[in-house]
Amino acid sequence: MSGQISPTVEKTIVLDKANRLLQDLRVSVIDRCNLRCPYCMPRESFGHAYKFLNPNEWLTFEEIETLVRTCVDLGVRKVRLTGGEPLLRPNLPDLIYSLKKIEGIEDLALTTNGILLAGLAGRLRESGLDRLTISLDSFDEDVFKKMSGGRGDLRDVLRAIDCAQKAGFFPLKINCVVQRGKNDHTILDMVKHFRNTGHILRFIEYMDVGNQNQWNFRYVVGSDEIISRIHKQYPLRLLERNYSSETSERYGFVDGSGEIGFVSSVTKAFCGFCTRLRLSADGKFYTCLFANQGLDMRPILRNRISSRSVKETIHKMWMVRNDHYSETRLRDSVGQIKTKKVEMFQIGG
Ligand code: SAM
Ligand code: SF4
Ligand code: SF4
Repeated sequence: MSGQISPTVEKTIVLDKANRLLQDLRVSVIDRCNLRCPYCMPRESFGHAYKFLNPNEWLTFEEIETLVRTCVDLGVRKVRLTGGEPLLRPNLPDLIYSLKKIEGIEDLALTTNGILLAGLAGRLRESGLDRLTISLDSFDEDVFKKMSGGRGDLRDVLRAIDCAQKAGFFPLKINCVVQRGKNDHTILDMVKHFRNTGHILRFIEYMDVGNQNQWNFRYVVGSDEIISRIHKQYPLRLLERNYSSETSERYGFVDGSGEIGFVSSVTKAFCGFCTRLRLSADGKFYTCLFANQGLDMRPILRNRISSRSVKETIHKMWMVRNDHYSETRLRDSVGQIKTKKVEMFQIGG
């Protein structure tokens, strides 16, 4: 059963075709990035000739605020800013400041590669950001360099982690994408470093996002394998999920030295609990990470259509949503689906 728009009630419950609520919103504020992680934005495909959006194609902060506010009216409780690299968007703290004032947002978070974070962490905190996730694929300098497409300096990210904690972001989530033969031999180093820090390290299975990363199942290291490798050295026990739509499986170290997470998007698809909508920097809504087209909100926003119509448009989009890509991927022969997909850096993971 799908929800109805009521003319009198402000908050609307909206369910998609698989009875999934609309609860989380990811907002990509820019499609550019200062790194070229091969699993996301391989430098061979995204070099000088690649045409990123022009700044005049980005949604303005006012437009983002309008869409976020409307999504909150439709049930969204958690908002995450992302990119590309969100810290490249000029004046980002101003956006955070205005989003923070929207009643109904329970969690305002941001995912960053950390390269520019050290100098910005304090301002992000002051503007009202609740939580930070920092991506970091290895503690080995050479491996890190390769995993960032030759562009990143590990020291910047380590400094960022320090500054973020000093600015009051605690615990941090640390995202590590694992690729077989690329960084999986450095998993235990990562665990060793983050145990006892209070921060939550999360290993993410390498996904077939976008069209350029040459994904193949043989590069995926499934969470079960990662868990078993860690468990041999640092015994783990399964913890309950914090909430039903949490994408990460939580484990605790048996010796009490903290928590660790696993996002098994490939080997244990969680489409059935997927309550997430994504907004690209140029104003397109995507109802799935693997979607091939989005709903362009810019004409609607720029033609001064009433806020009620904006709400109805989003509501209708969610009501017809029937995405289950990751479940289908496992049923069909692995990785053989060839439809053109939106790129990860356009909608931010
Ligand atoms: N640039 C920021 C960053 O890297 O944190 C935010 C955007 S990035 C697209 C968001 C997250 O997606 C990062 O944690 C990144 O590691 C993850 N990601 C990108 N490509 C991926 C892939 N092919 N499989 C799994 N995770 C991926
Ligand atoms: Fe940039 Fe993040 Fe993609 Fe890496 S994962 S290329 S840091 S957007
Ligand atoms: Fe959600 Fe699509 Fe990922 Fe399934 S494949 S969990 S529907 S984003």
